[in-house]
Parts: sequence; structure tokens; C-alpha cells
Amino acid sequence: MANACPPAQLQNRRDPPLLQRVRNEEGLLNLPTTKKQRDKHKTVGNAVILNCYICRKYLKKDGSTDYRTTQFWFAKCRMPLCNKDRRGEGGGRPMSCVQEHTCTDDEDLACNDICTPNKKFPRALQVSLWPRRSGRGKSGNNWVV
Ligand SMILES: [Zn+2]
Ligand SMILES: [Zn+2]
Repeated sequence: MANACPPAQLQNRRDPPLLQRVRNEEGLLNLPTTKKQRDKHKTVGNAVILNCYICRKYLKKDGSTDYRTTQFWFAKCRMPLCNKDRRGEGGGRPMSCVQEHTCTDDEDLACNDICTPNKKFPRALQVSLWPRRSGRGKSGNNWVV
């Protein structure tokens, strides 16, 4: 429970301490080159990407799930997470994806040893931080606690 929160900004963007590049089943960081890429004499294919798990918690303004691709996952459990600090996005997110994964008390989001990259996000945990159009608020900002 008393997980230490990492700093909001990951200090070294090129070599984040908590995140690693996503690898595919063969342990590769990049997909095989496509014919198009080979024609352009490229030797490295596209990076392997997954959808960030934490980002799926915060619904888009229209209420749909926000699938954000990332090339990184948490080194310890391989949960795909954004390397980018997304505070303030999605209608006002309070923490970066990495912070939320390491700080939350929510078992489905927290770091444990059984994170699976393609786990379906529990619908019940999804929230919308966007202010509602209609309703009691005058400023539209009183949803902030
Ligand atoms: Zn994310
Ligand atoms: Zn984890």
C-alpha cells in the first residue's frame, strides 16, 4: 500500500528507469520491415507498440475509451504505460500513467506481478473527467475536488 510514488517527470527521457521498450514475442523491439520499407532501404521496422493501460481508464470527451499507443511498458510487470506525462489531459488527469500505476490503491490498476499486456480494462473503473455540459455548475469547473 505504501508504494513510493516516482517523480512526475521521468528524469531521463532516453532511458527511463521504470519503463522499458515494448518487445514482441520474439523479444524484438521492432517489427520486421515491410516491403515498402525495404524498398526505401530501411533496415529497421516499426517499433512494437501496445495500448497504454492506464489511459483506457479516462474516457474521451465523447465517452469512448481512449486507446493511446505506447512503445513502453513498466519494467517490473510489463503493463503498457505512456512514457509521456499526461497530467492535465483527458479533462484533467491528476497523475502521469506511471505514477498512477505505482500509486493507486485500485488492484486492477496497481502494480503487481500479474499484469497482462492485453488485459481488458474493467468498464466499471472507467471515469470521465470532462465537465458535463448540462447540470448545476455555473463555471463548469466545480467537478474539481
Ligand atoms: Zn497512458
Ligand atoms: Zn506494474
